[in-house]
Amino acid sequence: MSTLAYIAIGSNLANPLNQVLSAFHEITYLPKSKLIKKSSCYTSSPLGYKDQPDFINAVVLIETDLSPHQLLLELQMIELSHQRERSFLNAPRTLDLDILLYGDIKLNEPRLIIPHPRMHERAFVIFPLQEINENISIPLIGDIAKIAKELDPKNTMRITL
Ligand code: ADP
Ligand code: MG
Repeated sequence: MSTLAYIAIGSNLANPLNQVLSAFHEITYLPKSKLIKKSSCYTSSPLGYKDQPDFINAVVLIETDLSPHQLLLELQMIELSHQRERSFLNAPRTLDLDILLYGDIKLNEPRLIIPHPRMHERAFVIFPLQEINENISIPLIGDIAKIAKELDPKNTMRITL
């Protein structure tokens, strides 16, 4: 049985827009999976550690027969192929791929938490997610329209290519 999963994409190094566009392409080739929808790209200013370039963000919806853990491994392999280095929390990155939602599953393990624990605080995740599904309800958190209304739109802008 296939499952619908939402993935957040982010980059702020080495031509972020190209990084995100090539991530769209690579996600198309994930095993046992099909890309269903992709959002527009958005720009956002960094959170936490401020002294770094702005981000490009997007969200995609896939249908997959991979388990959540298999999907995480595949996404981490894509990150590695983009020379992703893990230095410190909120550090600049060439490519970050996070699993936001996997069906209506709830997981709380050290290496995999679903729904992604900080997604509802992040306009750069919620705005593109809302663009591809305006009616989605996030387990434990609530309806996307209500969550989006509580976020500051100032630092997250949709870009037209
Ligand atoms: P962040 O995305 O929070 O900036 P990283 O990309 O460096 O940080 O990820 C740190 C760890 O977060 C990963 O090693 C991964 O095991 C874990 N993780 C927990 N939940 C998730 C999730 N839903 N999607 C992706 N990674 C996750
Ligand atoms: Mg990540």
